[in-house]
Amino acid sequence: MRYSGFRVLQQAMTGHKGWQPAWRDPDPKPHYDIVIIGGGGHGLATAYYLARQFGQANIAVLEKGWIGGGNVGRNTTIIRSNYMLDGNEPFYEFSLKLWEGLEQDFNYNAMVSQRGILNLIHSDAQRDAFTRRGNAMILNGADAELLTAEQVRREYPFLNFNNARFPIKGGLAQRRGGTVRHDAVAWGYARGADRRGVDIIQHCEVTGFRIENGICRGVETSRGFIGAGKVGVAVAGNSGRMMAKAGMRLPIESHVLQAFVSEGLKPVLPGVITFGAGHFYCSQSDKGGLVFGGDIDGYNSYAQRGNLPVVEDVAEGGMALFPGLGRVRLLRMWGGIMDMSMDGSPIIDRTHIDGLYFNGGWCYGGFKATPASGWCFAHLLATDTPHPTATAYRFDRFERGRMIDEKGMGAQPNLH
Ligand SMILES: Cc1cc2nc3c(=O)[nH]c(=O)nc-3n(C[C@H](O)[C@H](O)[C@H](O)COP(=O)(O)OP(=O)(O)OC[C@H]3O[C@@H](n4cnc5c(N)ncnc54)[C@H](O)[C@@H]3O)c2cc1C
Repeated sequence: MRYSGFRVLQQAMTGHKGWQPAWRDPDPKPHYDIVIIGGGGHGLATAYYLARQFGQANIAVLEKGWIGGGNVGRNTTIIRSNYMLDGNEPFYEFSLKLWEGLEQDFNYNAMVSQRGILNLIHSDAQRDAFTRRGNAMILNGADAELLTAEQVRREYPFLNFNNARFPIKGGLAQRRGGTVRHDAVAWGYARGADRRGVDIIQHCEVTGFRIENGICRGVETSRGFIGAGKVGVAVAGNSGRMMAKAGMRLPIESHVLQAFVSEGLKPVLPGVITFGAGHFYCSQSDKGGLVFGGDIDGYNSYAQRGNLPVVEDVAEGGMALFPGLGRVRLLRMWGGIMDMSMDGSPIIDRTHIDGLYFNGGWCYGGFKATPASGWCFAHLLATDTPHPTATAYRFDRFERGRMIDEKGMGAQPNLH
């Protein structure tokens, strides 16, 4: 069923009795050409682009829980391409361009809102660093704009410009950045993939790989063995555990990241703002809640919930920037598991096992990457060659010392 304004009107006139499920609930077949493990944003986007771009039809996505239950439905919804390094910027700009046409492409309202993102500047040295970053973005075909404190004040008059420790001296704006309704992205890709014949199998946990003579022949699951020509792993925070079943030890640690939503307010925040002197970022949802987050919890965990010290830390960052936040009640909070790589950048690569491919290491920034990650992983699975924007995302960069360390923090996930 194609969605359109006409369809909504037609359904309204007939008691909304004609809507069909957005995707089927098939039983697994004994064998697929390609099996994707993980029904998060990246796994579903991969299946969608495999079917749409690369003409593959015999594909399954295996999800241990339900569609949208992982990080794709837990993030703070920010999209942007304000990266600096060559390995990263073309990839994230490709992703932002895909977001711009995504809703028309998969015929689903994902509430893509290019309301802009503003990284605040608090010192002269930071202005220099952000100027350099903005120039790198422009050279890579992205948009960037350096704002003075007065320009920031016109857009965000309630910020604490004269904070003694962290005065606001300007900002780096990317007007094409913004927010997207996170779970709708999973639903849109799931529906789009299903319409092209992909089997989306929920409540099907992969418990192991069947590897014979160095070739991956399929996966063991809670619903039996499923044979596969190729297996693509896209399980985000569970990457370490999953690949250990294939005997691989990854340069990835799993950490918790929390998100927070306040009570609904009248429109106050026109775009996304980030604090430049600590880790705090905030936007306002269309329902009025302030959606914000900060640092990871800092210890390794697979639990999808966090701890109170980080709540205090995030609230302190918010208050330094936005003192009025102290009057707002916090309504909801939750956690997700981050696949933190050692240089803060992802991996989209083949493994040393024939037929086994890996996508992960997204840290706390993989939502914005969803369309490009899906496209590039599909490209790799279909053609066995990396997509031109993802050539740097290889396993061997850790061995060869060719890290893509965007923040220059070194191999410490809790500092990214
Ligand atoms: C609080 C928070 C805020 C964030 N904010 C942002 C943001 O503002 N912008 C941004 O760009 N990124 C953000 N991120 C990061 C982003 O959400 C993730 O990097 C991205 O969603 C990860 O990819 P995914 O969608 O495929 O992951 P997931 O949705 O987690 O998908 C992985 C799936 O694999 C499944 N799985 C795991 N093991 C198995 C198994 N054995 N068998 C079958 N299935 C399995 C899981 O159940 C899960 O559904 C945030 C994350 C969190 C938690």
